[in-house]
Amino acid sequence: MKSWIPIFRRLFPASLYRLEASVIEKYSKDAWFASASPEVVCFPKNVRQVSALLKFAHQYRIPVTARGAGKGYVGGCVPVKGGIVLSLEKMNRILEINPEDGVAVVEPGVITGRLQEAVKKKGLFYPPDPASLKDCFIGGNVATNAGGPRCLKYGVTRNYVLGLEVVLADGTIVNVGGRTMKNKTGFDLVGIFVGSEGLLGVVTQVTVRLIPHPQSRGAICAFFGTATQAAQGVQMILKAGFLPATLEVADRLTLEAARKALGRDRIPPANAYLLVETDGTESAVRSDLKSIQKILYDLKPERIEKAYGNQATERLWELRRQFSASLKATGMKKLNEDIVIPRSRLVELFKFSEKIQKKFGIPVASFGHAGDGNIHVNLMVDPTDPKQRKNADEALDFLFKQVIAWKGAITGEHGVGLAKMPWWKIAASSELRALHRTVKKALDPKGILNPGKFV
Ligand SMILES: Cc1cc2nc3c(=O)[nH]c(=O)nc-3n(C[C@H](O)[C@H](O)[C@H](O)COP(=O)(O)OP(=O)(O)OC[C@H]3O[C@@H](n4cnc5c(N)ncnc54)[C@H](O)[C@@H]3O)c2cc1C
Repeated sequence: MKSWIPIFRRLFPASLYRLEASVIEKYSKDAWFASASPEVVCFPKNVRQVSALLKFAHQYRIPVTARGAGKGYVGGCVPVKGGIVLSLEKMNRILEINPEDGVAVVEPGVITGRLQEAVKKKGLFYPPDPASLKDCFIGGNVATNAGGPRCLKYGVTRNYVLGLEVVLADGTIVNVGGRTMKNKTGFDLVGIFVGSEGLLGVVTQVTVRLIPHPQSRGAICAFFGTATQAAQGVQMILKAGFLPATLEVADRLTLEAARKALGRDRIPPANAYLLVETDGTESAVRSDLKSIQKILYDLKPERIEKAYGNQATERLWELRRQFSASLKATGMKKLNEDIVIPRSRLVELFKFSEKIQKKFGIPVASFGHAGDGNIHVNLMVDPTDPKQRKNADEALDFLFKQVIAWKGAITGEHGVGLAKMPWWKIAASSELRALHRTVKKALDPKGILNPGKFV
């Protein structure tokens, strides 16, 4: 037992923490495959308790890893150095929804989808839409600057965070930003904490910007013979002056897996897929859909499907949402990357995926957010072949180096965590890494917050 545990037990009420093996095990991992056991898991109910825990941890130099819903894809909340896991799950209240100001104030443990539903009832919209939104927390979204399909039109989590209450490494409680749309009082410290992956402070309250909920939505889904046609569709829609809410693509292997899982009727024998969603007033949606349909018809698709209204649009989305599950249903292990490329490189990326397959013997299935260049490149690894795991690391290295050469980014949504750590050095210059260290040292001089990660 660590020497600080008896002191910890004397200082804090038993209702605040758990030490049982089953709880330790549950809080040792996220949706990635790494795991590491903490000594204790704490469940604070308010900011004062978070502050007291951090003061204690700071005094005794104990690692503290903040944890949201544990739905991260990169091992971000895995407590690799042990110590305390600080679960924010009990701080889960929506404190305010204010339509007049266009803001909501929430605790970090609020599930993203729950916030969206609650504000929708008041005619308001919180657009960030990670695919995990039924489970993940706003605090985790802030810490990873989560994104989703709607980013093309609406931006990422950062674009909706107006203010934060943060507890610093030494227990100091600080408020950054505020509740107004504009605020130029001092540095943009909200931006420093958003996406900081629990390395700079613990987020205990979030003030988010809300916008009017779009009146209606519609979508078009097109299947093409080639990836080039789908990529041309993306460019032509934008060139024609439309800014759809989402522009999603999928490649041949993804469609093949979906065809196997869902049936040949649902997916024609095509090699590329494009899903375009528009939203806004009823008349604008109808008119945009008509024009976009014409643009896509000119590209001679194999099939086009159009949907108007919420229910019909959701039906078209059902297929898109099945892509991940269909790939998993192949029985292969799916290594999901979230690279970002300049949009013009889409066809090159699909060709590069074929190159990976030839060079490393690992099939690559890609789908994702073509509008913002954030593509989920899935390496489909045979779990029965031990050689393939090693090959997968080499294939990832090959992919990330190419993405960087294209001036893209190795992660657009999931963060660096543990999964991308080996590539942090090539993804960030030495000056940029030094700047990260300077910021980290200034805010967490003893290095107790989420240690063992990329800074
Ligand atoms: C099926 C699936 C689909 C996904 N789809 C998407 C997607 O479309 N877009 C996307 O962006 N991500 C996606 N993800 C990844 C993941 O859901 C997001 O990264 C999400 O933001 C994580 O939230 P969480 O509450 O689970 O955080 P956790 O996994 O618990 O933590 C993530 C990181 O945030 C830190 N952290 C958590 N809470 C706090 C806090 N209050 N203060 C300080 N640091 C904190 C942790 O230390 C860790 O570094 C997906 C994951 C899954 C499993």
